Amino acid sequence: MTNKQAAIKVVKVLRQNGFEALLAGGCVRDMLLRRRANDYDVVTDARPDEVAKLFNRTLKVGVKFGVVIVLIRGMHVEVATFRTDADYADGRHPVSVQFTNAAEDASRRDFTINGMFFDPIDKKVIDYVGGQVDLKKRLIRTIGKAEDRFAEDHLRMLRAVRFSTQLGFVIEPTTFAAICSLAGDIKKISGERIAMELEGILVAPNRSAGAAMLVKSGLAEQIFGGFVGDKAALAVGVLGQLPKKIDFSLGLAGFFAGLETETAVEGLRVLRLSNKQKKHVKYLLANRGRLLKEKMSLAELKQFLAEPYFEDLYSLERALQVVCVGGGEGIVALQALRRRIDQLGDVELRPAPLLDGHALVRLGAVAGPELGQLAEEMYIAQLEGELQTGEEAERWVRKWLKKHRTIEG
Ligand code: ATP
Ligand code: MG
Repeated sequence: MTNKQAAIKVVKVLRQNGFEALLAGGCVRDMLLRRRANDYDVVTDARPDEVAKLFNRTLKVGVKFGVVIVLIRGMHVEVATFRTDADYADGRHPVSVQFTNAAEDASRRDFTINGMFFDPIDKKVIDYVGGQVDLKKRLIRTIGKAEDRFAEDHLRMLRAVRFSTQLGFVIEPTTFAAICSLAGDIKKISGERIAMELEGILVAPNRSAGAAMLVKSGLAEQIFGGFVGDKAALAVGVLGQLPKKIDFSLGLAGFFAGLETETAVEGLRVLRLSNKQKKHVKYLLANRGRLLKEKMSLAELKQFLAEPYFEDLYSLERALQVVCVGGGEGIVALQALRRRIDQLGDVELRPAPLLDGHALVRLGAVAGPELGQLAEEMYIAQLEGELQTGEEAERWVRKWLKKHRTIEG
């Protein structure tokens, strides 16, 4: 059973028990666009307790907001009672909700294309907000007055940019004008929520257009600072040159490609990324330019390749070269590097050292900084292919110790 079939089953059960029930929101939009929907949400006039009574297994996590999750044949279906959201106190969360009818439930939703219902039994679209017209025109338009809707919930400004990016739709001019004038309010939204929407924008293949909207509306400048003029243009350009499928970290590195690493890392703090993501983005930014180095040693190349982020760094550098210098020498250098990598075949990038610390001490190394340096230099010689066996490594270490002792002595 698919999640769509599960949702339709829930609709049927509600109907059989005398309630109104429809599919709602994003899934209706996606069905009409023949896109695969993320999730199929059900709306109904049944109250949460009435919904809960009709199904064996439910989760009452959002009952306060009229939402019950129905567990049916291994699927989760969100069932929400028709509601209006009253009094947004903090620019994000309604203080209370009131149960109501379908038309009012439609008008509390964010954009016309997200405000439609679908009756899966009679196969009918129920559209109180002009969603079908805007879907045809490929427009993102708020339901009701844009200023009011963005003042209620500031996150909607970023959602507008995300839907526009993901669907390739234009943000309708008065809706966009409202975003431009209210962009400063985005700072009142939590970093985690901003990051979720930004991720949707930056991983979409159309991310360059999304970034251009973030810049033009002032949202990027309000969230991070530094997104004006050349730096902003570079971000848009670089994002346009990255591969189609990327993850959030590479998207962020592309977005911040015009900024110094330290400035970027500082700016990114608002997003409250995981340590892993922070490390990933920082690595990509801090290593800009390093793959272009002429005559990179084999050991250095292997060390790069052993990094989990190597391919992302390569993609970022390629995009930077195309945008900053229109290709040229940088691209030639990157292509040469790629050929060298291909010729390496499947050599081991991170072999165990031929000798461990104990072996080095047995050979006469003194624990402490000397041991560390010796171990590192021996490992580089190993990666370079100079040392193949334990005996070769031992001979090399004896020589190293002799040389260093005579210099010091
Ligand atoms: P996606 O495919 O990205 O999940 P979606 O349209 O399903 O897109 P959700 O965030 O899952 O988006 O929300 C489901 C529906 O709830 C939306 O289609 C919209 O009708 C409504 N909605 C969600 N967030 C808001 C909001 N901040 N303000 C008003 N309505 C919203
Ligand atoms: Mg959804």
